[in-house]
Amino acid sequence: PPAATPAAVSALARPPSKPAVFIPVNRSPEMQEERLKLPILSEEQVIMEAVAEHPIVIVCGETGSGKTTQVPQFLYEAGYSSDNSIIGVTEPRRVAAVAMSQRVAKEMNLSPRVVSYQIRYEGNVTEETRIKFMTDGVLLKEIQKDFLLLKYKVVIIDEAHERSVYTDILIGLLSRIVCLREKRHLPLKLLIMSATLRVEDFTQNQRLFTQPPPVIKVESRQFPVTVHFNKRTPLEDYSGECFRKVCKIHRMLPAGGILVFLTGQAEVHALCRRLRRAFPLTRHRPQEKDDQKDSVEETRRFKKSRARARKAQAMMLPQISLDNYSVLPAGEGDEDREAEMDDDEEEEALGSDLDLDLGDDGVDGGEQPDASLPLHVLPLYSLLAPEKQAQVFQPPPEGTRLCVVATNVAETSLTIPGIKYVVDCGKVKKRHYDRVTGVSSFRITWVSQASADQRAGRAGRTEPGHCYRLYSSAVFGDFEKYPPPEITRRPVEDLILQMKALNIEKVINFPFPTPPSVEALIAAEELLIALGALQAPPKTERVKQLQRSRLSCPITELGRTMATFPVAPRYAKMLALSRQHGCLPYAITIVAAMTVRELFEELDRPAASDEELATLKGKRARVTQVKRIWAGQGASLKLGDLMVLLGAVGACEYAGCSPQFCEANGLRYKAMLEIRRLRGQLTTAVNTMCPEAGLFVDPEMQPPNENQVTYLRQIVTAGLGDHLARKVQSEDLVDDKWKNAYKTPLLDDPVFIHPSSVLFKELPDFVVYQEIVETTKMYMKGVSTVDMQWIPVLLPSYCQFDKPLEEPPPAYCPEKGRMLCHRASVFYRVGWPLPAVQV
Ligand code: ADP
Ligand code: MG
Repeated sequence: PPAATPAAVSALARPPSKPAVFIPVNRSPEMQEERLKLPILSEEQVIMEAVAEHPIVIVCGETGSGKTTQVPQFLYEAGYSSDNSIIGVTEPRRVAAVAMSQRVAKEMNLSPRVVSYQIRYEGNVTEETRIKFMTDGVLLKEIQKDFLLLKYKVVIIDEAHERSVYTDILIGLLSRIVCLREKRHLPLKLLIMSATLRVEDFTQNQRLFTQPPPVIKVESRQFPVTVHFNKRTPLEDYSGECFRKVCKIHRMLPAGGILVFLTGQAEVHALCRRLRRAFPLTRHRPQEKDDQKDSVEETRRFKKSRARARKAQAMMLPQISLDNYSVLPAGEGDEDREAEMDDDEEEEALGSDLDLDLGDDGVDGGEQPDASLPLHVLPLYSLLAPEKQAQVFQPPPEGTRLCVVATNVAETSLTIPGIKYVVDCGKVKKRHYDRVTGVSSFRITWVSQASADQRAGRAGRTEPGHCYRLYSSAVFGDFEKYPPPEITRRPVEDLILQMKALNIEKVINFPFPTPPSVEALIAAEELLIALGALQAPPKTERVKQLQRSRLSCPITELGRTMATFPVAPRYAKMLALSRQHGCLPYAITIVAAMTVRELFEELDRPAASDEELATLKGKRARVTQVKRIWAGQGASLKLGDLMVLLGAVGACEYAGCSPQFCEANGLRYKAMLEIRRLRGQLTTAVNTMCPEAGLFVDPEMQPPNENQVTYLRQIVTAGLGDHLARKVQSEDLVDDKWKNAYKTPLLDDPVFIHPSSVLFKELPDFVVYQEIVETTKMYMKGVSTVDMQWIPVLLPSYCQFDKPLEEPPPAYCPEKGRMLCHRASVFYRVGWPLPAVQV
């Protein structure tokens, strides 16, 4: 472990903690009564005895049995947070971290200053915090600062059955931390909580735990759920099928809440809208007004910080005339607009191309609204605002039936009370990575049998229920039994970098609950070597080393710098190189915008009506126009889509980042808010690392000058180097399918610049791209131009040199940031079947 920090030393000087004491909690009688109904309450003693006797304990119990809300309370009452220690609970989802901290605070009658949460951008942790809910990524970052996690006496890893990557890594790390803490007589307790009994990856894994930890099963009362399969499996329109099923249930079946499982936010909102139209509530829902107030408030706060940047304003954004922006009046159609703004964040951002036609309004458009049967329809998905999530826990208004339309979050993370009917489309949206090419796409696939059963189980919490599966039993029989752990399905370079920063050099020996494949580890290590984050082994040894799969390259100074940024290694490299010529604020903005992704609304979606089609067309034209303005001409256009990102963020902030501005220019308001937060966070990260940088977020930024644009292009080239693509020249054309195509080192097929790119018509000889998405063709998105002569200098590892390099590639200089070279005179051959280029 890294050297102890002063805080760690003083903590070590404390005597070992005393046996636990009982801390009284003042719960309200109603709360107490409600708690007593939870199955986990009868296991309190068993759990607490196991925790007292063993360093590591596994608790399994059905969703809703009370694990997340009760176990932290047991520990609190038993004194595990005395001596100013904290009980830490990790959740794979932000939704759960926030919702659960609020729930537990309420149950215990304690303030959020004591029962708090921390997620990527926000939190309410204070000095008084005793129970802290956080996302697993947050705890991983804390381990980097304090390997022994000395401020915690207990760490609970919740939802371990989900097998999220960070959960897996945390369990591996904590298995070691627990031993180290034991040696120092400062025991740390680890609880692993799972909604399924499938825990052999933890218990039967000798490398992880030499002694298999005890498993405590919480028997919960589960009422029988009758499962109804569809006779046939609808191929396309499962959303429409859900709609019809909910209508039938609502019209024909007795009282009881309905829970619908769909795959993504867009679908959730579309179905909600359709159901609300079919079964309107007579009273207006007041919360929508509040939403608007919130966003106004946030903008106001940000405007304050903007005042600091006023001095620069006079010179600001000369190329972008704001007179060009007509601001659409807010008003009619607000609800729909709000819904769109909620759509497709992060995990779902890429899915737009794959979103199925929802058939919204299509078949059932003529249906008469039925106000005599009010239905209280609520959406639920990961990135829904916490206040809105909380609504699903409230009883529905008198005389209405609750209907929650949810994504996978409702499968195990959150338990909604009063659900009697489950409608399961049987699908889930997952990011799919091609291991060889790195191409990622969102795919809607069938769930596993285990997930389908979890979903069905949601119907039997309070009374016998029914689950309607919109697929046949034969199809169900073909589902895989369990979903494979995430770590086996995605690239791992970010994890490997984090682990190396923790001085875990031989990642191959790390006690992963399920290790990633050796190819994935090698690919990650290769990329990190190419980025300069790891020391390359000597060339001769390299082959042997790979053969023996001894992955043990040490981290470099650059790698350590990169690991401190909360972004993927490629982007971290860009930030690490940006300490020159005032490029940092721009690089931060570009990286923030690339991380948030899909800044622009999806405008290629199918339109439900002629009217909508006309609106979409108009918007598309408008977006094309503003993109051209933001990209500028000449030097700035060469930065391509990344210049558009800079321009969009600058212009939007200049206009006060209003929802109206975003709406008028096809920008996603929520994405803009997220970029703002990430810019703040990255600026803080830079300032912490080098206080003399003294950066502050200048929301509106002056546009970069010509030199800065060139540096930015070099920085981007260095970061995205493995995403280099070369235009296939007409004389190299193999056949027509290669017209206007690009060749990348790894893909055999042609790739193209995405039509939404400002470089779509420019067709530069060399480009780097942010990502390739596969729709009808392979398209590069986030494209920027590369000058050919930079390649051997900035990306030597992607070249084959006819002569050995005369000078080694310039080294990273952490003090100054590195000056990038402009020229090189070597022959090189980019390693794919196109003629060599002489530079
Ligand atoms: P588990 O973690 O075992 O799935 P939880 O501790 O999350 O179970 O939930 C226990 C019970 O508390 C459930 O019945 C659930 O409905 C209820 N609950 C959880 N959060 C809330 C909330 N915010 N409001 C009302 N009830 C809640
Ligand atoms: Mg739980």
